[in-house]
Amino acid sequence: MIHFSLMQEAGLSVAAMSDKSDGDCGSRDEAVPNTEAFMTLAGAPGVRPVRVRQVHGIAVVCAEEARGASLEADGILLGKAGIAAGVSVADCAPVLLFDPLVRAGCLLHAGREGSFRNIAGTGVALLTHRFGSQPSSLVALIGPCAHGCCYEVSPELAAQWHRAGYACRDRFLDIPGTNSAQLEKAGVFRHNIHIVPHCTVCGGVFFSYRTDKTSNRNLVVMMV
Ligand SMILES: [Zn+2]
Repeated sequence: MIHFSLMQEAGLSVAAMSDKSDGDCGSRDEAVPNTEAFMTLAGAPGVRPVRVRQVHGIAVVCAEEARGASLEADGILLGKAGIAAGVSVADCAPVLLFDPLVRAGCLLHAGREGSFRNIAGTGVALLTHRFGSQPSSLVALIGPCAHGCCYEVSPELAAQWHRAGYACRDRFLDIPGTNSAQLEKAGVFRHNIHIVPHCTVCGGVFFSYRTDKTSNRNLVVMMV
């Protein structure tokens, strides 16, 4: 597992991501023991993260309403201490947003489709709407995901990405760069946006759908 120490320095009580060494931390029942062990390592023993049924959309729900509800969404808003949000990823980008002034945050699952539809900007807008956050106060982190070195897509998809003006090189999409640009456009300062420079596809540390076609997942957890 890795701790996102920059986010913890900004004030998040827990910000971490499981890797292969933690085993599958996906949503299946068999993954519960791994998830519990990972939560202990992450600094939240006994805490069960609130999760959603991720559908590659841009819906973002509040942790309180999502708890035990099995909602379809790809983002979770956090405004209360003691509640953890979790998203599963294997090459999609986890995006963590935190407002240290009002102590609210948002955890997003930004894959190709969610990124194309600007889930990062949606997260910023909802933090503003629900908690009165100023985008200029937000600290953001884009965690390990498929980077531009490895995210090759069809010519059609690449053309769509180019037309939208999103970051890409030939047929290689730059998911972290796209989310970073969207956050900046939403008002987050560039110096408050951190990209973890680790590609899940060629890095070997995390479960990667592109590399292994695996159903195993890395779990990203966040607590304000
Ligand atoms: Zn790579």
